[in-house]
Amino acid sequence: MSSSNPSSSNHPSPLSAEQILEIDRQHVWHPYSSFLNPTPVFPVQRAEGVYLHLSDGRKLVDGMSSWWCQLHGYNHPRLNQAIQDQLEQMAHVMFGGLTHEPGVTLAKRLVELTPEGLNKVFLADSGSVSVEVSLKMAMQFWQSQGRPDKHRFLALRRGYHGDTFGAMSVCDPVTGMHQLFSHTLAQQLFAPQPECGIDEPWDERHIADFEALLVTHKDELAAVILEPIVQGAGGMRFYSPDYLRRVRELCDEHDVLLIADEIATGFGRTGKLFACEHAGISPDILCLGKGLTGGYMTLAATLCNDKVSDGICRGEAGVFMHGPTFMGNPLACSVANASIDLLLDSDWQGQVGRIESQLKEELGACRNLPAVADVRVLGAIGVVELHEPVDMAKVQPRFVEEGIWVRPFGKLVYIMPPFVSTPEELRQLTKGIYKVVAELG
Ligand code: PMP
Repeated sequence: MSSSNPSSSNHPSPLSAEQILEIDRQHVWHPYSSFLNPTPVFPVQRAEGVYLHLSDGRKLVDGMSSWWCQLHGYNHPRLNQAIQDQLEQMAHVMFGGLTHEPGVTLAKRLVELTPEGLNKVFLADSGSVSVEVSLKMAMQFWQSQGRPDKHRFLALRRGYHGDTFGAMSVCDPVTGMHQLFSHTLAQQLFAPQPECGIDEPWDERHIADFEALLVTHKDELAAVILEPIVQGAGGMRFYSPDYLRRVRELCDEHDVLLIADEIATGFGRTGKLFACEHAGISPDILCLGKGLTGGYMTLAATLCNDKVSDGICRGEAGVFMHGPTFMGNPLACSVANASIDLLLDSDWQGQVGRIESQLKEELGACRNLPAVADVRVLGAIGVVELHEPVDMAKVQPRFVEEGIWVRPFGKLVYIMPPFVSTPEELRQLTKGIYKVVAELG
């Protein structure tokens, strides 16, 4: 029953903030939300640079980059123009049997920019789908080698790879959704979370459990899947490049593919264009998303090397079995191309380096607060870990009152600001975080 349309004309007049909230409360699912116990939502009217402009006139410095994907600021003229230009050619055409300039240009760019050997590109429509595609690639590869028993995955505890079924099966089994969906989820293997911090000296003991699992199960493992260097939504933890290097070596030694999920880390967020570069490794399969379009549209990509693509294409099916309707959407590809140009034309490494230094200093001050267990910073990612989970209903409005958009989860108050954030804008974020976290006691 739709009862809330305020206008009977074909062009409904804009809704007031109150009307938006009322309809929202009645009908709209938000991520991980309940209609019985809703947490506050804030109507956004427009976004410009690093600012979110709320309907009530307040403006917030965005610390979240709309969940990692915003790099250059909202409403960017070059990105807007790319979409407008493409719109005049075509908004969308199917990718089965057809191809187009924005799609092939993007594929070529991604092959050139990503770690060596990744040579084939599957354009998917969201991060989770690109993870599904990566799992299917690995399974089809082994099927084609006459080794169908190699169909399971070894993932890391505290990992996060998305909310679809295949992706959920490789998320952390405790903090993920395994319990809720246990009857349906594929049973995967989990190594302990990497214990060696990003700057800590390496010790072979750090990889011992992983190695034991890999060796024991290598005949049933299609691939290892992990987030390189930064475990994001599963805990915002940073780990040693040596760990990643050893994983690559062990996968080679024991004939298991390696899938790197760089959906959150890709496009400069950690200070390298791709986090695999911290370890100088190349995975067999790579997932990209989020920052791919500079935060404009949903688009993801799964890249693989020739070994994987040859294997799949010489196999029983002869083709790779996936094909979403909106695959290679031209609007999304054109804005991705423009975003990559903008990134490479900018001093992104300098910007991310400056954000890192400032967050280290200013978020570092939170270490003295009683509610704080740890502060860590890598590239344009800052994390304040608390002793106790926050009460979102209380904390979220407080951040908004401070003029900042920060959305914690559990014990983690974290930010990953757009790369174009100025020192003053960052200062507003860090000051607001300090103030709100100080109030937690
Ligand atoms: N992998 C990682 C590492 C992610 O951070 C996310 C999103 N938070 C995903 C996969 C899923 O991407 P999407 O939300 O676009 O489906």
